[in-house]
Amino acid sequence: MKAVIVGAGIAGLVAARQLGLAGWDIEVLEKSAAPRPDGYMMDFFGPGVEAAERIGLYPRLAAVAYHVEAAEYVDATGHPTSSIDYEQFARLAGGKVLSLLRPDMERAALAALDDVASGRVRIRYGAAVSRAWSGDDGVQVVVGGQHAVTLGADVLVGADGVHSGVRAHVFGPEEGYLRPLGMRAAAFIVTEPILNARFRNRFVLTDSIDRMAGLYSLRSGEVAAFMVYRDATDAAGHQRSGSPRERLRREFAGLGNAVDRLLELCPEHPYDDVVAQIVMPGWQKGRTVLVGDACGAVSLLAGQGGSLAIAGAALLGDVLGPVASSDGISAALAEFERRWKPVVEEAQAAGRRTASSFLPANRTQRLLRRWIIRATHLPGIDRFVARQIVGRIAK
Ligand SMILES: Cc1cc2nc3c(=O)[nH]c(=O)nc-3n(C[C@H](O)[C@H](O)[C@H](O)COP(=O)(O)OP(=O)(O)OC[C@H]3O[C@@H](n4cnc5c(N)ncnc54)[C@H](O)[C@@H]3O)c2cc1C
Repeated sequence: MKAVIVGAGIAGLVAARQLGLAGWDIEVLEKSAAPRPDGYMMDFFGPGVEAAERIGLYPRLAAVAYHVEAAEYVDATGHPTSSIDYEQFARLAGGKVLSLLRPDMERAALAALDDVASGRVRIRYGAAVSRAWSGDDGVQVVVGGQHAVTLGADVLVGADGVHSGVRAHVFGPEEGYLRPLGMRAAAFIVTEPILNARFRNRFVLTDSIDRMAGLYSLRSGEVAAFMVYRDATDAAGHQRSGSPRERLRREFAGLGNAVDRLLELCPEHPYDDVVAQIVMPGWQKGRTVLVGDACGAVSLLAGQGGSLAIAGAALLGDVLGPVASSDGISAALAEFERRWKPVVEEAQAAGRRTASSFLPANRTQRLLRRWIIRATHLPGIDRFVARQIVGRIAK
């Protein structure tokens, strides 16, 4: 059996490994020229932890994880206003939390492809899929533009992220499925030894209204920055003007020296995208199935998109892996959706619930967040916070 997987992010790589281990022939098509070096720090908890342990990926992830003691909110003078102890966060999140840089997570998944028999999984970097279609007897994708190549397979897996092209080609335009949550997020990595030394082992987050900048010191001496801000549009529905860097400099002025320094060093084209969820009535059509953010993005508000990407891809491997003829494909894809969609929908609901505490819209919401954080050691409140943060996972 053969599958084409579009996207060598965490979902695509894990699906490739699991299907490869089950004896499938896999072609992974990734539009980036090489593994993407850019990224942000991610908390890894919830279903992905269990899945990673089960498939043997967890030790590779733990080996590249960072030690985080706390997430600390600070005012513009750098003075802490409240903080979340990470041991306590791990307890609320159901046991284990790893803090990982996104590219490190992907590299770990890439290295784990060594477990698959040589030649079973082939990755083509610099291979952007420009068309895809799905029939009853197979799928086809077109790679590239002028000198395009067409590839056929038994199954097409769209693991190409929140702006999935496979989804657009096979299921319809993005507008039908993308639900913006009223914010944008930016992320970039800068070399700044002074900030790096000052903020070791903790996430530092600004305790601000309508915008939040965060930073974390990396082993390399660099600093990973991320910024979330209200996505205001003008009366005509156009986004705020200017390049992403200009927009960030405007939006995040006045949040203190550390943020000013990050903005000074911000590259011209940082990652900057809408914060959104993907909501679809169904994830499979003919021989095409979506996995990860492509079908069920929960957004950074849920803090577990990477975790769900791993767990979803592992489950897809479990149900599709044993299929040995085209007759069993539809039933396997339906089974994957039946078992996985409710989990994703629960995480999406948890993500939406956190919106006001993630990015307070006024002083009252900010005070409430401070109060909740300080009260997390109280019995009952900790369960409430767990539900806000991780949905049903901590039950
Ligand atoms: C700022 C920020 C913070 C986050 N924090 C967390 C966190 O703390 N914890 C957590 O679990 N999650 C977090 N997330 C979410 C997490 O990053 C995503 O849910 C996860 O990376 C999704 O993985 P994926 O493999 O489904 O998609 P992606 O990582 O988006 O990978 C998709 C891949 O497909 C490729 N691709 C796209 N189009 C094509 C095409 N046409 N042809 C070929 N290739 C293509 C892309 O280049 C990419 O490599 C955060 C996200 C953001 C933006």
